[in-house]
Amino acid sequence: MAPTFRKILIANRGEIAVRIMRTCRELGVGTVAVYSDADAAMPHVFAADEAYRIGPPPSRESYLRMDTLLDVARRSGAEAIHPGYGFLAENPVFAAAVADAGLIFIGPPASAIRAMGDKTSARSLVKKAGVPIVPGTEEPLRNVEEARTFIRTHGTPALLKAAAGGGGKGMRVVHTVDELPSAFAQAQSEARSAFGDERIYIEKYLEQPRHVEIQILADAHGSVIHLGERECSIQRRHQKIIEESPSVLVDEAMRAAMGETACRAARACGYVNAGTIEFLVDRSRNFYFLEMNTRLQVEHPVTELRTGLDLVAEQLKIAAGQPLGIRQEDVRWSGHAIECRICAEDPANDFFPSTGRITQLRPAQGPGMREDRGIEVGSEVSLFYDPLLSKVIAWADDREHAIARMIRALREYEVTGVTTNVGVHLFVLQHPEFRAGTYDTGFLGRNLNRDTLRGFCADASLPAAVLAAWISHEHRDGESLQPAATLPAKRPSGWKSQRLPAMRGGRT
Ligand code: ADP
Repeated sequence: MAPTFRKILIANRGEIAVRIMRTCRELGVGTVAVYSDADAAMPHVFAADEAYRIGPPPSRESYLRMDTLLDVARRSGAEAIHPGYGFLAENPVFAAAVADAGLIFIGPPASAIRAMGDKTSARSLVKKAGVPIVPGTEEPLRNVEEARTFIRTHGTPALLKAAAGGGGKGMRVVHTVDELPSAFAQAQSEARSAFGDERIYIEKYLEQPRHVEIQILADAHGSVIHLGERECSIQRRHQKIIEESPSVLVDEAMRAAMGETACRAARACGYVNAGTIEFLVDRSRNFYFLEMNTRLQVEHPVTELRTGLDLVAEQLKIAAGQPLGIRQEDVRWSGHAIECRICAEDPANDFFPSTGRITQLRPAQGPGMREDRGIEVGSEVSLFYDPLLSKVIAWADDREHAIARMIRALREYEVTGVTTNVGVHLFVLQHPEFRAGTYDTGFLGRNLNRDTLRGFCADASLPAAVLAAWISHEHRDGESLQPAATLPAKRPSGWKSQRLPAMRGGRT
């Protein structure tokens, strides 16, 4: 393999920083870590060849400080910056600043990030390229009346969305025209506080859709290929928690059609590097462009296990100007991969983030397992950053075997010191709807309710107050988390000790 870089800076933390450094080590690329005061002893600092303090714990004073990051790059002699995901990964100003500093941004050009970062302009751009989009406005709404006009033509339910959206924020489902004025105001205000940009637009709210996305790779020489799909319909409040590939829904013809469409969308914005085109699929298997993520995704390992490719290595090669080493016809998919996102949060307490020091850890191990983890025993989990602790990924020759492996590994898995969502994963993996592959994006909203919660928490004797709070805000689409101040701050979790039915081919 041709050399890429001598040394790169990883402008991130946690599992993704560790994961990027692993590939760098394999390729002989030197690594520079950055850390806030909260992260001085975190695994990503020790995984790097050198590490630099960049400021106090809040992200805006550390991981979001472009000037400090560029200064560290200069001082350390890094040639390129990998942004990971989150933080500055989809910030066109940062991508441009990196280039202006004479460094290489391991990601797409700033112009592509900008074009795809605004959802309304992204929608019209790809539509012009012949990509189907969810019916909706292609310009931000100027007032409630424009939204009303859309509903008159297309009916309800409709969805108000932030043009600058991300992370499921600034979305409001509208079931009747009467709800429109308050939903409009709420979406606008949430968009303003989350993104500093209150522009919103409206689209048709698809009933029981599936979220299926396509991974693409594009080099700087005009080649664009796709690496197949990831099914990401297991979501809580529009946030993915389990991803798998292949999707039960997608056959070879549909994969080829979605893949070709995704490559077209990428070409439309002059895309270079790894990216993901997200689609919603309706009940008739029509697919519609949702958005493009112009970075490495959290769920990229699913594609790596299915294709045998290392996406971070591909990103480095592309950023170094090398042509893609693989043609579309050479991409081979094998077996089935599933990823579970392990988060420090308490399902019995409305998924409120859980903090503390990790006291014990038994990793996901055994045949076909991979774990990308950003914590070790002794790591401090704080409220400053995303609660994602680790990703557990299972691969097997077929779906049923992959599910059985994942269940086996999660039963062995142990993290103590914080509460995690492992119980939710075990619940989903054993649910008949998930096993049948017939689930959609509403699966968790429908199934994670008072009764299932009671079952999980039976031996933790869930207090009535927690149940009441849970019931009061379950099933409300797009609603932001309520503060848990009125709920018990910490309680023993009964999720792990729940007795689970015997699995085919597995042990209880
Ligand atoms: P964000 O960028 O905030 O993550 P997305 O546009 O990617 O928002 O959508 C996130 C999720 O919200 C989707 O996977 C899907 O579950 C739901 N969603 C978004 N748009 C629609 C729609 N028009 N109809 C139904 N569900 C939608």
